Amino acid sequence: MEKRNYQREMETEIARLEGRRPTLLLHSCCGPCSSAVLERLTEHFSVTLLYYNPNIEPEEEYLHRLAEQQRLLTLLPREIPMLPCAYDNEAFEAFAPALADAPEGGERCLACFVLRLNYTAEHAKKHGFEYFTTTLSVSPHKNADNVNRIGEEAGKKYGVKYLFADFKKKNGYLRSLELSKEYGLYRQDYCGCRYSNQKNSDLSTMQNAE
Ligand code: SF4
Repeated sequence: MEKRNYQREMETEIARLEGRRPTLLLHSCCGPCSSAVLERLTEHFSVTLLYYNPNIEPEEEYLHRLAEQQRLLTLLPREIPMLPCAYDNEAFEAFAPALADAPEGGERCLACFVLRLNYTAEHAKKHGFEYFTTTLSVSPHKNADNVNRIGEEAGKKYGVKYLFADFKKKNGYLRSLELSKEYGLYRQDYCGCRYSNQKNSDLSTMQNAE
């Protein structure tokens, strides 16, 4: 089967807008990833940001990333509103322990994408946004096919248009590194959940060895 080019699909969708700037709800995983995505999307859409990341552990880390996200928004040339959202770790804990041994990129991560993209689609519909999408594909560690498939399914489920994208393309990831440096953003060294935090694995290895 021919590999889909989500960057090209996004460009085609943008060309169809003919200069109109529709509303779009952007799920953001963190400030650094959102920096390059916002730069790209705000040219064409009226963007509102949603920081729904119940997967981030511990809560202090969630709050630190949230504060960096908010600080970034104060530094950008365009005003980007943000939908309020609470730390909903119970929603992640409802399925994650059963998938604790799954490798990064496996079943736990797919369920994590479903949780975050369903919530975003639901709120995009509820607040009358025309589109929604996510920053997740900017990371070289995230499979764009999985992100886009889950986004498309969430869009169908809640009746709102999902914007296909692969934000790492056209140097998107490199641009996020540049902008993070320019704005002095904190860049975390693990994806988000405790299973992806090497310090936790080191700790549990040490505890198991005791
Ligand atoms: S590794 Fe990242 S994407 Fe996977 S479950 Fe943990 S936080 Fe979610």
